[in-house]
Amino acid sequence: MSTSTDLSSSLQPMENSLKKINRPTLLSSVRRIVVKVGSSTLTEGVNLSVAKVSRLVEDLSQLKQKGIEVILVTSGAIAAGRGQLTELFQNANGPKFNPSGLCPIIPELQAAAAVGQIHLMNAYKQLFEQFGHLVGMILVTQDDFDHRQRYTHISDTIRTLLRFGVIPIINENDTVAVDEIKVGDNDTISAYVTNLVEADLLVVLSDQAGFYTQDPRKHSSAQLIAIIDQITDDIWSAAGEAGTDKGTGGMRTKLRAAEIVTGSGKMMVIADGSKPMIVSSLLAGESIGTLFLPAERTKPMSARQRWIAYSRPARGVLFVDDGAKSALLKGGKSLLPSGIRKTDGNFKFGDTVSCKDQKKREFARGLVNYNTSEVEQIKGKQTCQLQETIGDFYYDEVIHRDNLVLLN
Ligand code: GLU
Repeated sequence: MSTSTDLSSSLQPMENSLKKINRPTLLSSVRRIVVKVGSSTLTEGVNLSVAKVSRLVEDLSQLKQKGIEVILVTSGAIAAGRGQLTELFQNANGPKFNPSGLCPIIPELQAAAAVGQIHLMNAYKQLFEQFGHLVGMILVTQDDFDHRQRYTHISDTIRTLLRFGVIPIINENDTVAVDEIKVGDNDTISAYVTNLVEADLLVVLSDQAGFYTQDPRKHSSAQLIAIIDQITDDIWSAAGEAGTDKGTGGMRTKLRAAEIVTGSGKMMVIADGSKPMIVSSLLAGESIGTLFLPAERTKPMSARQRWIAYSRPARGVLFVDDGAKSALLKGGKSLLPSGIRKTDGNFKFGDTVSCKDQKKREFARGLVNYNTSEVEQIKGKQTCQLQETIGDFYYDEVIHRDNLVLLN
């Protein structure tokens, strides 16, 4: 999407309906917080800015002193490494980092991440030490979130670090993460982490003050939206295409993060990372940035349900008929082949897939028992026809009820 929609006209009714929300009360209940910071908030030119990192460290240290558990998801490795490599080779006859000045090739970015990650962590280690805090580093990829066992190991490690009073610092493992095993942006990783450790709030520090009715860099009349209770199609269109040249996370990845976090029953705020003590001020009740409210659910999701629905991307879609939809939503049933009309995507056994109705609205996600070509063969068939269609089979259900999560 290259253009964005102006949300101003729908802003007033939205704000009216949210007047009763008491932000200070909501935010004062926060005990565990994930803070995500992007490269542009940490760098100056091509280098890591010690002043900017210090400012963040001071802010987070103050939260810790108040007894709040803090987890940091940080970008900046590639940016920091790029600066180091450029500096190292600028007068030498050796290799030049990104000599054309155009988009660097992947191994160069990975080399920059390898160099920069140490630089970044060293800065955090030294600066947090000044406040008496120890830090621990965790590097992750999409693969780690996809596999339930690895996922629970990350969770156990983070929870143990928190128990010891250590600040976990997380980034994508850029040197190994390419293509399909890569999450690709730290907005999404921070949402996964919030979900994983059941934090009360994710704060995404951005180079913008929050979510606006229009792109504020292009439209001076753009208004900041203080509270968003539902991520509607209009909100998605207003996000347009965003992002600075330093990070990969524009507003669309932030909205995706908000969907994950609020869908799992937690809150998220987008706020301006260039403001000193921004997170402390936010938790002290100041009206800062854009607050995304948790989605309302009749029953909270279990840890496993959060993993199925929100910690791995859906690898495909099953479009189901109205009868199957109602059996899943109201009857508490499993999804059988007979209710499936068509498929989309390329999935295999055990992947998360999305269930959509005839109007293409997503209403559930689940772990699928068959791959795409098998579902294509058995869709619309009765269970008694499975043997003659695909031979020996192990499951009557395409998604078993226990592996199905109903969305809002
Ligand atoms: N992992 C990348 C880095 O440390 C950043 C990814 C992002 O900005 O979302 O440079």
